[in-house]
Amino acid sequence: MSILPNQTQHMHWLLLAVLLPISAPVTAGDDHDHGHDHGHRQHDAHVHGVAALNVAVDADTLLVELDTPAANIVGFEHPPRDEAERAAIAEARATMADGAALFMPNSSAECVQMSHKVSLDLGSPEDHAHTDGEIHADAHGEWAFTCAKPASLNQLDVQLFEIFPGKEKLRVQLITPSGQRGAELTPDSHKLDL
Ligand SMILES: [Zn+2]
Repeated sequence: MSILPNQTQHMHWLLLAVLLPISAPVTAGDDHDHGHDHGHRQHDAHVHGVAALNVAVDADTLLVELDTPAANIVGFEHPPRDEAERAAIAEARATMADGAALFMPNSSAECVQMSHKVSLDLGSPEDHAHTDGEIHADAHGEWAFTCAKPASLNQLDVQLFEIFPGKEKLRVQLITPSGQRGAELTPDSHKLDL
């Protein structure tokens, strides 16, 4: 299947959304911290240094979804105060758009990135004019790859630690035809067996 019409892509995203609710508790049997308790919490856990990664393999499609505190990506979570901070956000968005640099399937599977969705919005200073206390924000990304040799797909080398330093841990939920499991990646152990 070399041609993926748009509609099929949408179906894949739908599948991912159904199979992998990003807010679902991680089943890795890991500790269960809920992050600091500030007003803004879109998701269950917002812990700087930690991020959630969903990976799904479905036929020749590999889907990757990242949900992370924005601090892990751009280094801060407040609305940009100056040109340098606006530039840092734009650069982080551009870096996130290149999923093939962030997530490297084993080369023999011949996967190419087909689509991506990236959201990194830290708002404007006015949004927070009347808020006291700490400001938090999240970044989100979704990437779809199509693999010419999906039977060879057996590993995903996750480069997020290298490209966005400051992350300590990635909590992974993986769905493949053989089942669902949790995993944890760290800067020293960033290759996910599929
Ligand atoms: Zn935060």
